[in-house]
Amino acid sequence: MEQPAWVVMKFGGTSVASVDRWTTIKAQAEARLEDGERPVVVCSAISGVSDAIEDILSGCASGHPEQALSALRAKHQVLADALGVDLDREIGEDLQEIEDQVRGASLIREVTPRLHARLMAMGERMSTRLGAAFLRQSGVKVTWVDAREHLRASEAPNTPQARAMLSAECDFLPDPELRVAFSRCEGVIITQGFIARNAAGETVLLGRGGSDTSAAYFAAKLQAKRCEIWTDVPGMFTADPRQVPNARVLRALDYNEAQEIATMGAKVLHPRAIPPCRAGQIPINIRCTPKPDLEGTIISAEGAGDGAGVKAISARRGVMLVSMETVGMWQTVGFLADAFAVFKSVGLSIDLVSTSETNVTVSLDPSANTTDPETMTALLEGLSPLCEARIIGNCASISLVGRQIRSLLHQLGAVLGLFEEQRIHLLSQAASDLNLTFVVDEDQADRLVAKLHARLFASRTEDALFGPSWETLFDRAGQPGLHMLEWWIQRKDELLALAEGE
Ligand code: ASP
Ligand code: MG
Repeated sequence: MEQPAWVVMKFGGTSVASVDRWTTIKAQAEARLEDGERPVVVCSAISGVSDAIEDILSGCASGHPEQALSALRAKHQVLADALGVDLDREIGEDLQEIEDQVRGASLIREVTPRLHARLMAMGERMSTRLGAAFLRQSGVKVTWVDAREHLRASEAPNTPQARAMLSAECDFLPDPELRVAFSRCEGVIITQGFIARNAAGETVLLGRGGSDTSAAYFAAKLQAKRCEIWTDVPGMFTADPRQVPNARVLRALDYNEAQEIATMGAKVLHPRAIPPCRAGQIPINIRCTPKPDLEGTIISAEGAGDGAGVKAISARRGVMLVSMETVGMWQTVGFLADAFAVFKSVGLSIDLVSTSETNVTVSLDPSANTTDPETMTALLEGLSPLCEARIIGNCASISLVGRQIRSLLHQLGAVLGLFEEQRIHLLSQAASDLNLTFVVDEDQADRLVAKLHARLFASRTEDALFGPSWETLFDRAGQPGLHMLEWWIQRKDELLALAEGE
């Protein structure tokens, strides 16, 4: 039997939050069908819902989740009304179940990882139920599928329970059974991001932001033709457009470059979503739901096919350095092993490392660590027999990302001049040859990123790699002046609601 051309289309939280967005989802899914492709729509929870459920769960510990529960119901009611869908019929039972479970948990004031995962999963369940009902009543043939029936968590031995339940990873080998099962489904398949099942049949989560990863798993298992990630920005950029309005769209990247940009802190695509697509050689296309005509970014094995070059600047704030000074390490055996064992024993993951004869400095990535005072004190105590350790807080790491960065060093001279009056705490050139990273004081980061960006990209003409800037994209779309404000204006209601909830 000839295999259908599967196209996975993932829509993020803001992309499923209004009737306008669902109208775009409908049009895009229908366009795929017209092209003879089979769309698999993977959705996030409505934006703000996963955070709201997390808040409710922390409310359980204090015993007062009522207000947050009614806000959750109200949020879904607003969308259901806009979609013209009956809330009670579609998700009444889900909301009831959340309320029952939360009451139980707030009585005993305890939320287990198991319950946490089960309730968080409701966010994706509810958005897809409302969306499927809307599509169905607009005349689209839809099959609603529970993602947990098809994504199985692969359990590495000795994984702590919280991690196994809340940040699981799944197998993604080609899955002929899934292809058969989906071939039997009618029309547009709609399913949830973020959730899977473990071997015991329990609900697990794929980590915050994990819907992208779900889409990639489905794409790899189906050996899809393409994995589309629909979000609220039109692609990956040369820098974060919220900080650098003239950041340029990157039209094409290879998997390694995209992985590096995603890992270095760009929020457009979850870094865990790239390996499954790379393994299956499936192109990822990042698209913008509010502006569906834009082509976005294509991530594939070829990339822009242009060899070496800096493609993006990323900045990570809140970085902490640990500097370890000792004369004792010179030519001794095992200093790094002993020192790193202390990091391991207090549960800290090291990011960058630079070494000299008398000093080793490492950085701690804020997204991978909890650098609370107790942990840091325990670290310093553990290190004190080995070296003189010192913490340097309030740093930012700024990375220039691109293929074969080593071969470009001679061209970067002028750019490096920008660091002249800056104290560079640490410099690291990735062994993968994909990034060059500087750690500087945090309060210098914005200024440096803007200046570096202006030097490297501002005057580049449009080509196969560099697309238009964020500013021009939004001006061209007839909304001059809105570029930076748009985030706040678009999400005004959410922000006001949040402020009220405080
Ligand atoms: N809803 C989940 C979250 O907010 C997963 C996702 O949207 O990617 O983390
Ligand atoms: Mg996301």
